[in-house]
Amino acid sequence: MAKSLYDTLGVPRTASQEEIKKAYRRLARRYHPDANPGDKAAEERFKEVQHAYDVLSDEEKRRAYDRFGSEDGRPGAGPTVNLGDFDLGDLGDLFGGLFGGLGGTRRAGRAGRRQPVRGNDVEAQVHLSFEDSLRGAEAKVPVELTVACSECGGTGAQPGTAPVICPECNGRGVKAESQGLFALSQPCPRCRGNGTVIEKPCRTCHGSGRQRRIRTYTVKIKPGVRDGTRIRLKGKGEAGTAGGPAGDLIVVTRVDRSPIYERRGDDLVVSVPVSFPTAALGGSVQVPTPDGTVSLKIPAGSEDGKLLRIKGRGAPKLNGSGRGDVLARVRIQVPKRLGKRERELLEELQKVSG
Ligand SMILES: [Zn+2]
Ligand SMILES: [Zn+2]
Repeated sequence: MAKSLYDTLGVPRTASQEEIKKAYRRLARRYHPDANPGDKAAEERFKEVQHAYDVLSDEEKRRAYDRFGSEDGRPGAGPTVNLGDFDLGDLGDLFGGLFGGLGGTRRAGRAGRRQPVRGNDVEAQVHLSFEDSLRGAEAKVPVELTVACSECGGTGAQPGTAPVICPECNGRGVKAESQGLFALSQPCPRCRGNGTVIEKPCRTCHGSGRQRRIRTYTVKIKPGVRDGTRIRLKGKGEAGTAGGPAGDLIVVTRVDRSPIYERRGDDLVVSVPVSFPTAALGGSVQVPTPDGTVSLKIPAGSEDGKLLRIKGRGAPKLNGSGRGDVLARVRIQVPKRLGKRERELLEELQKVSG
């Protein structure tokens, strides 16, 4: 029966690094091959202890093990494993290092085989004019991806042939070597931990089973996206390995600035020049909106900077529930040049109000 790495060291899951180190030293001394010459069982036990310590003494590996390692030490056993916020490149290595070493405690065959790993997410940017960000658009997004080789279907073996169990490690993917004080579990050099080897490599991908390809996706951009909106396209990212699912494509929208509008959430702020008499006495001005200009009433006594709301004329909301507003910001204009009559009236106003 396989057991947890904690059981191997005989410590609780909550053990401190100090306790883990102590347990390791005690067990390593007891089962060390030099102290048990010719004792196969002790040697296996020593390797397990060594491996358990390698993982649990490394905070990062320990966290990953706590999160992904089930009781029998197999990764990804639960259906709800979320790989989303993990660096999958490292994860592959981690699983290799983590579980390959357990080969000695389980039947050969499954032990060293690669586990299915989800493909990486890929990010691509798409540029939009401000108008298109409000209207919505269809964009062609070229993405360079690693995909399963089209010739061999991802096996890496020439069509008509198949990978075979590695004769060097009998499919375990690991080899144990005794080096002085330490027994090292290393990935099998022949199959590089895969457990299988390809005798006739596919000529297209040279045995890797993967190809770099530029794929162009047509992406529907919803009306109302902002600069930096992330759109996730499921399964359009990198191909998974060993039968794992593909990653996602994340399209990030880059929206040009508008010379007219400043976006504030789903509202659009627009500056509206208003003459001093209109601001003081009230009146109406024309305000641009995405649907064309509308007439806006300026209340008497409006101060510079006042925001007037035009409901429902802003950016479409991404959740589909209507639109934001246009916010007209009153900008009181001071005339640079005055006509004769204007000057007379302003001077009179100055006298009266002074
Ligand atoms: Zn191929
Ligand atoms: Zn091998």
